[in-house]
Amino acid sequence: MPAEVYDLIIAGTGPAGMTAAVYAQRLGLRTVVFGDIPGGSLYMVERLTNFPGMGEPIAGMEFGMRLFQQASAEGACFTMSRLRRLGQDRNLFLAVDDKERSYAAAVAIVATGHAPVRLPGEHPSLNGVHFCSVCDGPLYRNQKATLAVVGSDNTAVQHAVTLARLAEKVILVFRSAAPLMDAAHATLLKKQQKVAIFADSEVIGFRGEKDLQALLVKQKGGPVREMAVDGVFLAIGWRPHLDCLDLRLEKSADGYLVTDANLMTSHPGLFAAGDVRASNLRQVLTSCADGARAAKSASVRLR
Ligand SMILES: Cc1cc2nc3c(=O)[nH]c(=O)nc-3n(C[C@H](O)[C@H](O)[C@H](O)COP(=O)(O)OP(=O)(O)OC[C@H]3O[C@@H](n4cnc5c(N)ncnc54)[C@H](O)[C@@H]3O)c2cc1C
Repeated sequence: MPAEVYDLIIAGTGPAGMTAAVYAQRLGLRTVVFGDIPGGSLYMVERLTNFPGMGEPIAGMEFGMRLFQQASAEGACFTMSRLRRLGQDRNLFLAVDDKERSYAAAVAIVATGHAPVRLPGEHPSLNGVHFCSVCDGPLYRNQKATLAVVGSDNTAVQHAVTLARLAEKVILVFRSAAPLMDAAHATLLKKQQKVAIFADSEVIGFRGEKDLQALLVKQKGGPVREMAVDGVFLAIGWRPHLDCLDLRLEKSADGYLVTDANLMTSHPGLFAAGDVRASNLRQVLTSCADGARAAKSASVRLR
């Protein structure tokens, strides 16, 4: 079947991809968007409270649906399928979805986000398991909560420091004998009186039916302990969704797409937006902003 030709291919229906679609259509680009979940990771955001100027908090899912409706109203075409492969065929990007349909365009934006590495035994419906202290830490403000952070690198320390401002006590649990953070983070951690460190320790289970009540922690050579917690923040890594890209691209040390000031990747004409991009903050706001900027850069490239 011949490929359907558009101006712009967007992979991902999260805030980055859908904002890119809104802006691209308004800039006159015929746009096709791949993705099967309108809103992307927004479906995991119970209440979006930190989007500037929002006033009343809104469910992430509802915000996602509004973005989807806005992009559809602007005329973007949604495949409602996942992108299986994005490659280059002469001067066009060629995309094939999981229904074997083909699409071609001169420019493309990757906005496929990332996903957290999870722990065995943790079921996604258990309340109290988190991945982002900036997003979910405030849920525990003024509650005298005991919170755990699992992980030992700079990110884990940043979570522990953020949570120490909000909780009564923070437990930092990691498998290695010593934490894997840099000197600056080690100094930061030393100053935190509320943070108790459990090295050589592994979380091997979660207690609680609906709400998390405790973690089962096994210390090397010791017994399994049950540690009562109100919430746990997993900081054992995230993986960007890049499997569908059949292109050689420059990546950061932790595997995210490196972009220039116009959000173009190392492959000419391919842009990246949102959580999939190497960045120091991954939020709805930054993803929307990236989407808008990537669409503008793509339109300039097409001229
Ligand atoms: C539990 C949780 C709570 C959060 N709370 C907040 C908060 O309160 N405030 C805030 O600002 N941010 C919050 N965030 C972060 C925010 O959700 C993300 O920063 C934002 O959604 C990233 O947008 P994105 O478009 O880059 O990626 P995503 O929203 O992740 O969207 C990318 C989409 O692309 C899809 N995809 C991947 N591969 C393919 C493919 N091959 N084809 C098609 N689609 C593909 C993915 O499955 C996903 O649906 C939270 C995140 C989580 C996980």
